[in-house]
Amino acid sequence: MADAVVIGAGISGAATAYQLAKDGLDVVLLDRFSPAAMASGWTLAGVRQSGRHAAELPLARAAVAIWETLAEELEGETHYRRSGNLRVARDDAEIAIIRGVVQDQASAGLDITLLPDNRAVRGVAPALSERALLASYCTSDGSADPVATVQSFVRAAERRGATCRFGERALVIETVAGRARAVVTDKSRIATRRVVIAAGIFGNELLKSFGVHVPLQVPVVTVLRSAPGARVLEPVISTATATCTGRQEHDGRWRVTNGAEAWRGTLIEEKGERGLPRPRVNPTAASMVDVVTRFGALVPAFREAAIEQSWAGLLDLAPDALPVLDAVPGCEGAFLAMGFSGHGFCLGPVTGKILSDFVQDRPVDLPLEPFALSRFQTSASATAPATLHG
Ligand SMILES: Cc1cc2nc3c(=O)[nH]c(=O)nc-3n(C[C@H](O)[C@H](O)[C@H](O)COP(=O)(O)OP(=O)(O)OC[C@H]3O[C@@H](n4cnc5c(N)ncnc54)[C@H](O)[C@@H]3O)c2cc1C
Repeated sequence: MADAVVIGAGISGAATAYQLAKDGLDVVLLDRFSPAAMASGWTLAGVRQSGRHAAELPLARAAVAIWETLAEELEGETHYRRSGNLRVARDDAEIAIIRGVVQDQASAGLDITLLPDNRAVRGVAPALSERALLASYCTSDGSADPVATVQSFVRAAERRGATCRFGERALVIETVAGRARAVVTDKSRIATRRVVIAAGIFGNELLKSFGVHVPLQVPVVTVLRSAPGARVLEPVISTATATCTGRQEHDGRWRVTNGAEAWRGTLIEEKGERGLPRPRVNPTAASMVDVVTRFGALVPAFREAAIEQSWAGLLDLAPDALPVLDAVPGCEGAFLAMGFSGHGFCLGPVTGKILSDFVQDRPVDLPLEPFALSRFQTSASATAPATLHG
């Protein structure tokens, strides 16, 4: 019998498996595809506190504190760079948003400042065009390499005894008298009394048998990634209304997105590395043009980049754009991390700690009330604004 089974090897599940293995539990980490095959690989991978909902800020700050030494801890690569985040305003409406963000978050103690005009913005990021009228600037924000980070979590978990099974899909959590007793997959049955569901957009499939449903929307974001190039940009650049975001990776590659759009396409399953299935969503031509138009207007150098890869990434968008971090009603021993709404990559290291504390029945030293599943039973939760990725 496994002490715990973690379903999903995105950053949330991989970080949870690592924490559990580190604490000496015999843990099985499952993924129907491979590590970072979905949002945790599709992501822009900004590691950002600025622009967060007040409820999420304590988690983001705790996460950023972990990111600083994460590569060392995992004895693996993360390519984490604390190179700052500029959230730019391009018109009066965006100016009002950015001024509000700076005021609120500075009074909450975040190291965020207002760059009040184009000159000040270009003083920090000379590659920006005149379209950037002002910006918020948070120097302790940054970014990381998502695939390298998730792989480092997985390897560190394995070194501590975790068993990883990829290309294996969890079908149902079996219970006896309302308590988890096994995870049944398409290949085996794993006996366990503790289960973590960190399955991203597929979380509801595993909750169905308990009559539980997280009211998610699944919009899509298009991503373009270039060949390596000369570095002209240090901070991550986003906009007040999150209609485009971009950065240069550690080797100078551009990684750039547009905003979230309704998804009408299909999730294709193709063959990936080591014969494992790999999910893919193809972006539309219009969305790729949109990325180039929006980000190119802000950072003209991006227009010269040689694009090597494009994909579309799906978001698990909750009505209030906040995640669910909670126990699963009707299944004692099962816990849930989903609905990260386009900003769960940064939180990954802290999500892993929270879920590992849930599993081990330990108190969590962070305010988690806003992430309770029960909030969807009240009408107040359904009033939320859109996601802010990046
Ligand atoms: C384009 C884009 C840009 C983003 N930008 C940012 C950003 O800048 N900063 C930020 O913080 N966040 C960002 N995000 C959001 C962030 O990437 C996600 O919130 C985060 O990666 C979610 O991680 P996860 O582990 O919860 O889910 P996922 O990474 O989706 O992992 C879920 C895993 O579960 C597996 N799975 C599902 N069902 C089953 C099953 N039945 N059995 C076994 N395995 C299963 C899947 O294969 C998958 O690997 C962005 C997301 C996208 C798409």
